[in-house]
Amino acid sequence: MKKVRTRYAPSPTGSMHVGNLRTALYEYLIAKSQGGDFVLRIEDTDQERYVEGAVDIIYETLRAAGLKHDEGPDVGGEYGPYVQSERRDMYRPFAEKLIESGCAYRCFCTKERLEALKETEEFANGGYDRHCRDLPQEEIDRLLAEGTPYVIRQKMPLTGSTSFTDAVFGEITAPNEELQDQILIKTDGYPTYNFANVIDDHLMGITHVVRGNEYLSSTPKYNLLYEAFGWEIPTYVHLPLIMGKNEDGSVSKLSKRHGSTNFGDLMKEGYLPEAVINYIALLGWCPKDNNEMFTLSELEKEFSIDRISKSPAIFDYAKLEWFNGEYIKAMTTEQFEQTALPYIRQAIGDKPLDTLRIAAILQQRTTKLTQIPEAIDFFAQLPEYDSELYINKKSKTNAENAPVMLKAAYDELKALPSWEHDAIHDCLISLAEKLGVKNGTVMWPVRIAAAGRKVTPGGAIEILEILGREESLSRMEKGLEMLNA
Ligand code: GLU
Repeated sequence: MKKVRTRYAPSPTGSMHVGNLRTALYEYLIAKSQGGDFVLRIEDTDQERYVEGAVDIIYETLRAAGLKHDEGPDVGGEYGPYVQSERRDMYRPFAEKLIESGCAYRCFCTKERLEALKETEEFANGGYDRHCRDLPQEEIDRLLAEGTPYVIRQKMPLTGSTSFTDAVFGEITAPNEELQDQILIKTDGYPTYNFANVIDDHLMGITHVVRGNEYLSSTPKYNLLYEAFGWEIPTYVHLPLIMGKNEDGSVSKLSKRHGSTNFGDLMKEGYLPEAVINYIALLGWCPKDNNEMFTLSELEKEFSIDRISKSPAIFDYAKLEWFNGEYIKAMTTEQFEQTALPYIRQAIGDKPLDTLRIAAILQQRTTKLTQIPEAIDFFAQLPEYDSELYINKKSKTNAENAPVMLKAAYDELKALPSWEHDAIHDCLISLAEKLGVKNGTVMWPVRIAAAGRKVTPGGAIEILEILGREESLSRMEKGLEMLNA
């Protein structure tokens, strides 16, 4: 059996859309699940769409996502170069061959003529009237001798139909008369994507072509090219669209109005690469059993093409956030501290607080890393707060007992010989017992005084411990002042 080879072939046109990342992931998984190679090829033949820095984003995204390529511009390989602009001279001889065999022709039409064509009803939506398809040879020779610029176009059969089988979408048939005589080589000498992808996939020994289903309608044209060269046709795996949920409950193609649509923005929003990869794996692929949590290496074992679905997948941000929370919970506290540190520092600056303890109180309740700074900003500075906060029905605190509890706690804590979790805990619990009140009746006013807000990660004890003796007592003094106690 032939070794499975897949390729991820992005065009460097900007950030990495989740649809592109899913394509890369599925290519990677198809290769790895069958002991094959995963190739990275940069498709930069459309120089007008080239965006500076986009190639670095591709490398960085693949690296962060853990999709290690076996061959590519940066790691080399037997089938290089892996950047299409560096392969520029390889394509023309193939196009010339097609001219010789009658499957392609030179088109000398000027820009002006093509523009004028668009003004006609028939070609208003693009297309070409095949004007140069049957130029007499003398005419061609004359134009060539004059140095007239030309493109090379594919000569589509005018009758019959072209069929192929897609591994996801099944049998697809297109009437040949509907196929445009598409450009293969442009006037600037560069191949079009439509030509280069076929040549490169063949020369690089690609066995499975995985891409978005927007390419489904072009695939018959690629097939005609494979056939014209007498090359083996790869397995096509076209992936379903990714949709977003609209506010009114309907769905439409995933776009910015649904939320972040590229990997970089999702990272900035506080998602973990592992969670995004796990979630994206399920956008169009359905595992055998009900398990949804997969590490990349588990996916490498589980993935199979026959469980890719052709129905559109819906990108559900709430579900992604749930995955993210699960990945956060599954980390060790130390790992989470490392991951969360930039966000913790954002809130506390370089204050010498125990970031491991802060991480510990955050971990179970964080579903996105970006929630962190706001959740803990009270550590940096006691916020302005209203004395109403001291009154809480559930904890049985009211305007009368809150100052009493806070004062009693303050006195006990001040006398505490060591400021650490268990000591603070025991001190406050035995105080509640002594006063004959619920633990909460003591804890609530203490936590309000320490944090200045109703909702905090961690309880009174954890917060006091992290703040340290001096800061804790000073915040409690402020609280007592506020309550005139
Ligand atoms: N360069 C194309 C793109 O970025 C790749 C399509 C393909 O995989 O063949 O959409």
